[in-house]
Amino acid sequence: MSLWEKDLNQNFLPKLEEDREVDTLIIGGGIAGLTTLYFLRNQKKTILVDASLCGNGVTKNTTGKLTYLQNTIYTDLKNNIDEETAIEYLKSQKYAIHLAKKILEKEHISCNLEQVDSYVFTNQEKHQKKLEQEKAFLESQQIDVQVDNLPLPISYKSAICVHDTYVFHPIKYINALKEMLKNSIYEQTKIIKIKRNKKQYICYGENFKIRATNVIVTCHYPFFFLPFCLPLKSHIEKSYILAREVPKNLHYSCITVGNPTLSVRFYEEKKKVYQICLASSTKTSKNQEDVKNFFNVQKQFGIKEEEIVARWSNVDIITDDHLPYIGEVKKNFYVATGFNTWGMTNGILAGEMLSKAVKKEDIPFKDLFTLKRSNFYQIKSFFSNTLNSAVAFIGSKKKEKEWYQKNPCITKINEKSVGIYVDKESKKHTVFTTCPHMGCSLIFNEQEKTWDCPCHSSRFSLDGECLKGPSTKDIRYKE
Ligand SMILES: Cc1cc2nc3c(=O)[nH]c(=O)nc-3n(C[C@H](O)[C@H](O)[C@H](O)COP(=O)(O)OP(=O)(O)OC[C@H]3O[C@@H](n4cnc5c(N)ncnc54)[C@H](O)[C@@H]3O)c2cc1C
Repeated sequence: MSLWEKDLNQNFLPKLEEDREVDTLIIGGGIAGLTTLYFLRNQKKTILVDASLCGNGVTKNTTGKLTYLQNTIYTDLKNNIDEETAIEYLKSQKYAIHLAKKILEKEHISCNLEQVDSYVFTNQEKHQKKLEQEKAFLESQQIDVQVDNLPLPISYKSAICVHDTYVFHPIKYINALKEMLKNSIYEQTKIIKIKRNKKQYICYGENFKIRATNVIVTCHYPFFFLPFCLPLKSHIEKSYILAREVPKNLHYSCITVGNPTLSVRFYEEKKKVYQICLASSTKTSKNQEDVKNFFNVQKQFGIKEEEIVARWSNVDIITDDHLPYIGEVKKNFYVATGFNTWGMTNGILAGEMLSKAVKKEDIPFKDLFTLKRSNFYQIKSFFSNTLNSAVAFIGSKKKEKEWYQKNPCITKINEKSVGIYVDKESKKHTVFTTCPHMGCSLIFNEQEKTWDCPCHSSRFSLDGECLKGPSTKDIRYKE
C-alpha cells in the first residue's frame, strides 16, 4: 500500500447500470480524467466512469512531485528532436504547475502542497556533461539554476538545483475533485468496447451502453489497439518505492540522471515526517524480480526492514520520444496517455487541453503532444520498442516454462496455460495465465501476490480479477 492509499475516498459513487446518452464521456478517473471533468464541469451531459474507484490506478502510487526539472529531458529533446521542442516542453510544464496552483487556490483544495528545491544529480562521469547541458539550457530560458550540494547522504559527482517546484498529496487532490464533481461520476463502471455509428460512439459495459458524441480516454493504457497502436510506440517501466519515518523534513526532492534511477522526497503529516525513496526503475520486459528490486531500494538508501512504513511499486508508460500523447485520435475521440512518469504535471495539463478540444477552443501545446507527430527520435526508438515488445512476449512465454515448477505451478489444461497458487492457508487460487489483452504470458509477482503482464502492464488478482488495464477481461479459471 502506498503512503497515499490510506487516504483514498473508499465511499463508492453509484455504478452505471442502465443505458445513457451524453455529450461527453470520460473513461478513467485518475489525475488526467478527473481534471478533464473539472474543466468540463459547466458543460451539460458530461459524465466520467471509472472501472474501480477514482484515484485507485497509477495515481495512488505516484511520488507526487510537481516539477519541471525532469531528469535531463530538455537536453534529450534538444539533441534528439530540436531546441524548439525542448523550449515548448519546458513552457508546458511550467504552465501545468501554474494551472495546478490555480485550481488548488480557486477551489480551496488542501493537499499538502509545498514548495521545495528540486535536484537532478548523477554519480556517473558520463552523465556530468549532460547535466551541464541541462543547466545551460534552463539558464538560456531565464531559470535560476544552482550547482549545489545534494542534501542526500549518498555519493554523487554533480548536482543541479532549481527552486520553484512543488510536492503534494495526489490523493487529497483526487478526493477533493471527486467530492466536487460527484454528481457526474460513476464508479465500478468499466468500459470494455467502443464502436462508432454514424453520429456517435457507443461505449459498452457489461450490462449497459453509453452513447456519446465525444469520448475522452484517460484510463492510463488505452484498451484498444487500433488506430493508435500504443504498444508499438512505448514500453512500460516499473519502479519500487519505500517510505520511512525520519526526524526532519529537508524540503527538497531529487532524482538521478541515467540508471539506476534514485529519487527522494519528503512528506509531512500530523507532525510526522516521511522520506519516500524510489529505486530500481526497470523495463518490465527485462526484469520482473520484484522481491530483489524492493531489497535493492533498501540497500541503495540504507533502510532497515523495521524502518519501512510503506512499500509499493508503480508502472508508467514511456513513449518513444519521451513526450506524452494528448489529443484527438479520430473525430471527437480523444486520448491522454504516455506520461513518462511525469503525469502530475502532464495529467493536469491534459485535463485542460482535452476540455478545450471538446469545447472547440484553442488548445495550448496541441502540436507538441499530438498523436499524429512523427520525428526521428520516434523512428529510432520504434525499432527498439518493437524489439522490446517481441523480447517481452517471447521472454514471458519462456519464463512460463522455466520458473513455475513449484508455487505457483503452471500447467496446461485443455491446451490452455493455467497457474495454480497455494496460499498460506493451503487455499488454491487458479487462473488462466495468458493476458487477454495481447496474449503475453503473465508473470507472478511474488511480493504483491498478483499476476502481472510484462508487456503492457495489465494486472490481475490471485483469483483472476483484472485490477489494471489495458486488459478489460478477467483471467478467472473456468472448467
Ligand atoms: C514510480 C512512479 C513515480 C511517479 N512519480 C511521479 C511524480 O513524482 N510526479 C509526476 O508528475 N508523475 C509521477 N509519476 C507518473 C504519474 O503517477 C502517472 O503518469 C499518472 O498518475 C497517470 O495518471 P492517469 O490519470 O493517466 O492514470 P490512472 O491514475 O491509472 O487513472 C486511470 C483510471 O482509469 C480507470 N480505468 C482503467 N481502465 C478502465 C476502463 N476500461 N473503463 C473505465 N475505467 C478504467 C482506472 O480504474 C483508473 O482509476 C510516477 C509514476 C511512477 C511509475
